[in-house]
Amino acid sequence: MKVVVIGGGAAGFFAAITAKEHFPKASVLIIEKSSQALSKVRISGGGRCNLTHAYESISTFCAAYPRGANSLKKIFHSFSPPQTMDWFMERGLELVTQDDGCVFPASQDAMSVVDLLIKNAEDLGISIQLNTKVLAIHRVEIGFKLELSTKNDFNCDKIIVTTGGSPSLSGLQWLKNLGHSIETPAPSLFTFNIPDDDVTRLMGIVIDDAVVAVNGTRLKADGPLLITHWGLSGPAVLKLSAFGARWMFEHNYQFDIRVSWVGGKNETEVAASLDQIMKVAALKQMANYRPFDLPQRLWDFLLAKCTISFEKRWSDLSKKQFNQLVNCFTNDTYFVKGKTTFRDEFVTCGGISLRDVDMNSMQSKIIPNLYFAGEVLDIDGITGGYNLQAAWSTGYVAGLLR
Ligand SMILES: Cc1cc2nc3c(=O)[nH]c(=O)nc-3n(C[C@H](O)[C@H](O)[C@H](O)COP(=O)(O)OP(=O)(O)OC[C@H]3O[C@@H](n4cnc5c(N)ncnc54)[C@H](O)[C@@H]3O)c2cc1C
Repeated sequence: MKVVVIGGGAAGFFAAITAKEHFPKASVLIIEKSSQALSKVRISGGGRCNLTHAYESISTFCAAYPRGANSLKKIFHSFSPPQTMDWFMERGLELVTQDDGCVFPASQDAMSVVDLLIKNAEDLGISIQLNTKVLAIHRVEIGFKLELSTKNDFNCDKIIVTTGGSPSLSGLQWLKNLGHSIETPAPSLFTFNIPDDDVTRLMGIVIDDAVVAVNGTRLKADGPLLITHWGLSGPAVLKLSAFGARWMFEHNYQFDIRVSWVGGKNETEVAASLDQIMKVAALKQMANYRPFDLPQRLWDFLLAKCTISFEKRWSDLSKKQFNQLVNCFTNDTYFVKGKTTFRDEFVTCGGISLRDVDMNSMQSKIIPNLYFAGEVLDIDGITGGYNLQAAWSTGYVAGLLR
């Protein structure tokens, strides 16, 4: 049996190693278009490779995937995140789980993951052909013929496509030509540009517990929020960008967002807290008594936004200003105009439609003996190791060649 894995990324290596371990007599070849394998893993997690996330249950884990959550439930039953960690540890890679749940190699170096994968592949006798792009797949009487950029056609029995996310529809045309439906690609995991707004002067401030929501939609995310010199970033914004990736793409990245600087507290709770402050700190100047432990610069900014003088005493706050403050704490609105790529991790939503793939085997429902794994599929997650986990699990299941 000749197996070809198209794409030498995380999913491709997992698929190839699994295939060779389960079918030792098969010849397994990874074809990679660039001059080096695993280039994304090398730079993943800022060079540290956040390779998965702490696991509680399949349903909580799958909640981190805006697209593909239901399909992943099946896939994780075959190869779960804890099994992935065992896989690496059994092969000698020590792992550490951070307090935030992100899992890294103990070396804090993505190269230890890369080296392990390449060594395992080589030890098993898997061939890796670099600088070769697969241009087309043709079905022939028995198996497939691959049209390669090197002009040397190649015949094989089974194919696993692990070509990663494509930013454009045209990049997926060769797979569409085989009859697969494609969900239009769109970027996910980005930060919001808020040009010409004074809020950007607060760059560097982190609010540990914020809520960000898109006006006129049900899109909402919570978590730490970071103010940058171009707008808003941090886990809450990245999560919102993931769940809203398609909607934001369709709205040309222009929309109003509401920020709650006080986490999940509602207006009544915020008003009650402010009432309390007016009693206990009645004679204190407003700027000198910060509610909710807000960073001083943010508090000053919100006071200025509500045109409340810093010297005003809490007891002198008018009803109108009080209401304005409550609103500013819970529904502070900004106009997002454009996005900025998050340098540590970005992915593509969209790709091969999951309707065309059998999630028990990752085999195409259109073309027998053709399998898919990794980001080429319409599966993507939030930051925190979820995207690589999807690549490992789909790669493993595809490599079983069921
Ligand atoms: C900067 C950055 C940091 C990231 N950090 C993290 C992280 O810490 N944790 C996490 O979970 N996720 C992270 N991600 C996301 C994660 O890296 C990807 O989701 C994952 O690598 C996808 O794996 P893949 O094998 O499906 O695709 P890829 O890694 O993209 O691999 C696909 C491979 O296929 C090759 N290829 C494509 N077309 C062809 C063709 N026609 N013929 C031959 N070869 C082809 C490509 O050259 C590529 O090498 C990060 C992403 C980026 C961009």
